Amino acid sequence: MSLLSIEATALLYLVAAVCFILALKGLSSPKSARRGNLIGAFGALVALVTVFLSTELDNLALIIATILVGSAIAAPISRRVAMTQMPQLVALFNGVGGGAAALVAMLELTHVEGIGAVIAVAFTVLVGAVSFSGSVITFAKLQELMPTRPIVFPGGPIVMSLVALASLAAAVWLVISGDPLASYVLLGLGLVLGVLFVLPVGGADVPIVISLLNAFTGLTVAASGLVLGNTLLLVAGTLVGASGTILTRAMASAMGRSVAGILFGAFKGGSTAGSTVASDRPVRSSSAEDVAILLGYAQRVIVVPGYGLAVAQAQHTMAELATTLEAKGIEVVFGIHPVAGRMPGHMNVLLAEANVPYEVLQEMDEVNPQFKTADVALVVGANDVVNPAAKSSPGSPIYGMPILDVASARQVVFLKRSMRPGFAGIENELLFEPQTTLLFGDAKESLTKVLGAVKAL
Ligand code: NDP
Repeated sequence: MSLLSIEATALLYLVAAVCFILALKGLSSPKSARRGNLIGAFGALVALVTVFLSTELDNLALIIATILVGSAIAAPISRRVAMTQMPQLVALFNGVGGGAAALVAMLELTHVEGIGAVIAVAFTVLVGAVSFSGSVITFAKLQELMPTRPIVFPGGPIVMSLVALASLAAAVWLVISGDPLASYVLLGLGLVLGVLFVLPVGGADVPIVISLLNAFTGLTVAASGLVLGNTLLLVAGTLVGASGTILTRAMASAMGRSVAGILFGAFKGGSTAGSTVASDRPVRSSSAEDVAILLGYAQRVIVVPGYGLAVAQAQHTMAELATTLEAKGIEVVFGIHPVAGRMPGHMNVLLAEANVPYEVLQEMDEVNPQFKTADVALVVGANDVVNPAAKSSPGSPIYGMPILDVASARQVVFLKRSMRPGFAGIENELLFEPQTTLLFGDAKESLTKVLGAVKAL
């Protein structure tokens, strides 16, 4: 017997849906993001408890055991994961969501009635499977378990078209016959399609694909809502689908790309270059004291943070260096590239953690004209987002991506550990330019030394 009336259930679902909307609103700014996250988690808890209280569930013991096993796996991983590995974790969780929606839809196949519901099942199985296997490949790329560059093979577009057509045929077969075998075939084809879909994506475009797959998962959850007749799933899935789509478009336009170009660019003869080999060409390197002198006698410094700042966890030292320079009358701003780091907003979150005021964080379009008048561009653990190949090398996998124009600054200082390239795996000519100096070492250690030397000036 259910413990909640239909009205009470509907009301609690409404509360959960409102929480999800408020969560999205909160997540739109770094200041309120933490609160937004908590509101979203509270909404999910309300939804979960409501399901238990309002539904007569079969296999209750099995459901609780599964929740306990899932939580026992996910909770320690989420607690222990490094900030820099968060995107991989999100990719994996997202994929698991799509996969779960596909499996639920397959189980519901024998219970649903009406052509509309069977179409929703077919959609959920196919898109959920694409989202699952595609997310696993993005996870492997981000974790560097496989090459991050685009992977293409001869006949790739033909194979992909054939698998897409076969998937469509299997979906039609499923809708017409309702045969569970068709759902297995569709699942298998969807998994292959997801892999084929993500393999050719590489270079700097992986973040956009993560966001696209996230939108796919949202759509499958919304379709599951139709299949199961659950309004809350429909609302939550639509919110994820819509926000994922908006984010995908926003990121693609910030990167000067079309979504189709990202997905199929490598097939159309886009570059598949990329490696992790360190260059052995000579560069100008200097000591922390020299860098401190450059900074200490500058009037205007633009800091460009990137993935390495997060790896080194050097945000607090960076913030202290900025404050120390400001105390000496030097103007310091941070130039934030939309895909710097490994997740959207990575640098904003990192610097907010170190209490860097939002006013000194400037977006790419705002900061780019200012490099001309900057004495020093201090590039801390960034590489692809300042690589001029994006402007000058049509063959490069990052060609066309807008970059932070650090080359216009009078002096450019790179803080990095070695001559290895960034995520896209391509050499950065700026490292060899006469106005560039490298300070080799872990960003936190280097910044600590520079900070000490600036204080001693
Ligand atoms: P990159 O990956 O291009 O470069 C990072 C640089 O940091 C490297 O040059 C590396 O050099 C250096 N580095 C790494 N660890 C340290 C350390 N401990 N101390 C000092 N330096 C370090 O990063 P960017 O931020 O410039 O660009 C982001 C890239 O990631 C783009 O290609 C983007 O498309 C991609 N991406 C972005 C996502 C997002 O949503 N933001 C998601 C997925 C991918 P070295 O090894 O020599 O130290």
